[in-house]
Amino acid sequence: MVPRDAEYEDARKLFNGMISKKPAVIARCKDVADVMEALRFSHAQGLAVAVRGGGHNGGGLGSVDDGLVVDLSLMRGVRVDPKSRTAQVAGGCQWGDVDHATHAFGLATPAGIISTTGVGGLTLGGGIGHLTRKLGLTIDNLLAADVVLADGSFVTVSADQNPDLFWAVRGGGGNFGVVTSFTFRLHPIDTVIAGPTLWPIDQADEVLRFYREFIGKAPEELNGFFAFLAVPPGPPFPEELHRKKMCGIVWCYTGKASESEKLLAPVRKVGKLALYGLQPMPYPVLQSAFDGLYPPGLQQYWRADFFRELNDGAVKEHARHGSRLPTPLSTMHLYPVDGAASRIGPKETPWAYRDALWAEVVFAVDPDPAKAKVLRDWTVEYWEALHPYSMGGAYVNFMMEEGQERVRATYLENYQRLAATKHKFDPENFFHVNQNILPAA
Ligand SMILES: Cc1cc2nc3c(=O)[nH]c(=O)nc-3n(C[C@H](O)[C@H](O)[C@H](O)COP(=O)(O)OP(=O)(O)OC[C@H]3O[C@@H](n4cnc5c(N)ncnc54)[C@H](O)[C@@H]3O)c2cc1C
Repeated sequence: MVPRDAEYEDARKLFNGMISKKPAVIARCKDVADVMEALRFSHAQGLAVAVRGGGHNGGGLGSVDDGLVVDLSLMRGVRVDPKSRTAQVAGGCQWGDVDHATHAFGLATPAGIISTTGVGGLTLGGGIGHLTRKLGLTIDNLLAADVVLADGSFVTVSADQNPDLFWAVRGGGGNFGVVTSFTFRLHPIDTVIAGPTLWPIDQADEVLRFYREFIGKAPEELNGFFAFLAVPPGPPFPEELHRKKMCGIVWCYTGKASESEKLLAPVRKVGKLALYGLQPMPYPVLQSAFDGLYPPGLQQYWRADFFRELNDGAVKEHARHGSRLPTPLSTMHLYPVDGAASRIGPKETPWAYRDALWAEVVFAVDPDPAKAKVLRDWTVEYWEALHPYSMGGAYVNFMMEEGQERVRATYLENYQRLAATKHKFDPENFFHVNQNILPAA
């Protein structure tokens, strides 16, 4: 597809409406052979290449000006093997495709919290979601992948096949090739008890102090991320809360239903609880619960960091900046990354922050392009206030294009091994439209 084609304008759009890129060619691939051909063509034409999975990336890394986009959005098949509890997922799937296919068997694999996010980008960067404490990151459940390399050759990576590349794709992003298929381990996850608890925003200080003590000691079946938010003006939220700025925790409990009430009893005692919204629901319902709030095309500005503690100074800054949400869709989330995710060593995958307790993301959002500066200013001010309390680096999938220093801060000592692997498989840095790892000299 090229700019003169009728479908081009729609096809080039990214999820983040703040970013507009105009590729010279969009190659809508249907299979591995198409991906190989697209890469060959871009080599021959000297075109820069971007790979588009779900197109969700905050920095717009699924596209490239004047280059070629390997668009995987037609590659959406999922095959579940209930016997071995695995799923083979095509490289252009969204998480909703996976949840739909696996839920039929009462199975799931850890993903993110929005079902329209691409499996490709989310997995290759790490993958945080409602099941992180219990089952680890998405990469911790990746068993194998099919990859088309920069030279157009095809390899399968797993613990036994090309283990160096298997190590690198579990967090190193799209730096090493185009992943045309992922194989995930599945787990018996069917109905979960999930939903938000909400408090007035002036109680953020108290709620955060409770949260920081409670979540790390809770059983790993209980996941809960903290959020600042404006309550959406519609069901299931009671009318008196509509549009109110609040703080909350979004819970997902995968343990015995009969134990959830007892486990969450301390939550009811915190401050003046305005809503206790937990209820049993099929896992895919939780996974798609926020989709409607974040449709494609909104203006988005992102900043992030990892945290090992939430001391009183950090709590104070969160309460200060969180209470100034610039628009109704803007938010800040603190995702727990302890539990199962912390039992993998910091060198076992490129994900260097296995000792972090939270991944923070400050995410300013609005439909109106005129608000771009307001979104940016709030996000950067919030992030700058908290950064001194952080561990120094951020989850690569919550970053925009922030430069090489931030990429290195993400990977810490693992950067050198990633750079060596990049040198081996992509010495020319053909795949550079990503959080780029420079090939070792
Ligand atoms: C509303 C929203 C909610 C989110 N929630 C979560 C969450 O809960 N948890 C979480 O972990 N993250 C979350 N994210 C962040 C998300 O993980 C990143 O935006 C991720 O980059 C999205 O992947 P994608 O395939 O949709 O993106 P794309 O823009 O298509 O791609 C992003 C990057 O990945 C590369 N890539 C994508 N697919 C492939 C492939 N098959 N082979 C090789 N390279 C590929 C691209 O080249 C690009 O560099 C969220 C993002 C949004 C916008």
